Amino acid sequence: MFTDTLTEYNMALRAKKLFNVNKLEVLADKGYYKAEDLKKCVEHGITPYVTKQGYSNKTGDKVFYPEKFTYNKEQDIYICPAGQTLTRGRTRKMKGQIIGFDYHNFKACRLCSFKDRCTKSTRGRTIFRHKDQDFLDTINFQTELNKNKYKLRQMIVEHPFGTIKRSWGAYYFLTRRKVSVAAELSLTFLAYNMKRAMNILGAKEIVKRLRERRAMVLS
Ligand code: SF4
Repeated sequence: MFTDTLTEYNMALRAKKLFNVNKLEVLADKGYYKAEDLKKCVEHGITPYVTKQGYSNKTGDKVFYPEKFTYNKEQDIYICPAGQTLTRGRTRKMKGQIIGFDYHNFKACRLCSFKDRCTKSTRGRTIFRHKDQDFLDTINFQTELNKNKYKLRQMIVEHPFGTIKRSWGAYYFLTRRKVSVAAELSLTFLAYNMKRAMNILGAKEIVKRLRERRAMVLS
């Protein structure tokens, strides 16, 4: 079962109820990479495949991207590409809740010959670790193992949006306010679905099937 979502957990749960299944696999793009949502999915028997958010180091040098820093769980430290140890510093909070921790070694950064390639900060490099990073690592691993399914999502889900935006020029909404925008979007996708069904089945076949359905409903 493949589904793209507004809020991954909520939509996945709705899909699970709708299809009346105990287990469900959901595929979503990086906009839905939120630990809280992903954890709720797992708790409810939903397996999420989501690409992780990629962060650059702002210098554009891939050798010093965050994934090049190795975490040592036992010692709770990061080893940077230059072999220096970054220890835990500031605890980061949002709305009073802990969201993760910063790791750094500014003393080593000051003397490092790679500093300009590694960071734009004058103080030195900081690596952020999410409080649920261990859990997120398992999601990353799981998504990596199921790359083929993920590619299928891109083919199924991205196609309608690409067609509607690029071929039909629907880059922005013509209406305002939520209710009008929802109606505009519904009509757009109704037109897309009709056009696609006509391309695949042909108008005659659609009319035939609709008549059969009508006969079934009326009988
Ligand atoms: S700037 Fe700091 S974090 Fe970056 S490679 Fe040098 S020592 Fe390591």
